[in-house]
Amino acid sequence: MACVAACAAENNVPIGVFRTWVERHVRADGNIVFVPKQCNHCENPPCVKPCPTGATFKREDGLVLINDEICIGCGACIQACPYGARFVNPVKGVADKCTFCEHRLAKGLLPACVEACPTAARIFGDISDLDSEIKKLVESSNVQILKSWAHTDPEIYYKNLPKEADI
Ligand code: SF4
Repeated sequence: MACVAACAAENNVPIGVFRTWVERHVRADGNIVFVPKQCNHCENPPCVKPCPTGATFKREDGLVLINDEICIGCGACIQACPYGARFVNPVKGVADKCTFCEHRLAKGLLPACVEACPTAARIFGDISDLDSEIKKLVESSNVQILKSWAHTDPEIYYKNLPKEADI
């Protein structure tokens, strides 16, 4: 849960809501596996279209973000996300979710969750960079995405994802 704690501290996430969380799943063989989840920054994000004010948008670099100043907290985006990645921030009254720590990326830093992970289970990079570690890893590994049936084209890939976790 170091990633969850780092995210909360970095982004002032109020108690009781989460931009990222770690699920515990029991595999068919009885072993336990931990699966981190968050906004997938989908290539085809269903959360963007229903926003009545344009507060939710996909940036040119691929990040799906929220403009707090024009969000009215209606919750339409929350309903549209098939991953449960969004919530209404109880302090600000606006939609909230993972931003991939875009304020840190702007300074050349990694997202707080990635930096905090003690086992380097989280790997972050620019997949459009053909020479990047992340591009090579995704191309050379048998990676999976969550809820492929939703056709959202997630930008988060998993290795060794148990089928029990794809819910
Ligand atoms: Fe939108 Fe949910 Fe996809 Fe994130 S995971 S981009 S909130 S649909």
